[in-house]
Amino acid sequence: MNHYPPALVKLIRSLCTLPGIGQKTSERLSLHLLHAPEHEVSAIVSGIADVKKKVRVCSLCFNLTQEERCRICQDPRRDMSVICVVESPADLAAIEKAQVYSGVYHILGGALSPIDGIGPSDIRIAELVKRADPHVVQEIILATRTTVEGQATASYIQTHLKQLPIRISRIASGVPMGGDFQYVDSLTIGQAMERRSDF
Ligand code: ZN
Repeated sequence: MNHYPPALVKLIRSLCTLPGIGQKTSERLSLHLLHAPEHEVSAIVSGIADVKKKVRVCSLCFNLTQEERCRICQDPRRDMSVICVVESPADLAAIEKAQVYSGVYHILGGALSPIDGIGPSDIRIAELVKRADPHVVQEIILATRTTVEGQATASYIQTHLKQLPIRISRIASGVPMGGDFQYVDSLTIGQAMERRSDF
């Protein structure tokens, strides 16, 4: 890489920090950007700046939003008595794509993983417990992933909520073990939601 000017080397190195981008891809992208028309490059630069500046999390469910509350929480057609608990906004997006769910969500922001030092206070479990008011909520669907961490997280939450008069359910295991929801087709997610069972 030493044959490249320092500014180009710097760009290649910084793009390398993105997930799924190795040295070769980073080099190709950097050279592409170097030769791309000015307006295309500015659109990318301002797109990144805008996302960092404008996007935040919903004050209720922690979904991504540009307002105080996300679109789902603001939608009067959504059933506020059912909360689907997911690990990330990407998992929410995958479930929304399946178009089988009309309740609201709670985004944990990860899963319990003692090996990585992620404990209950590192994800939004306390916030979920706070939302679990039996006067409002009738069912909490645990839709954490089917990984070891996702299962452990579901069990942990179940233990903390089971004393409440709220139905706690777990999505059916139609989703492949260790599968991220984004990579599972909508039909499978739809079936997993519909065939959920008491946990
Ligand atoms: Zn929300």
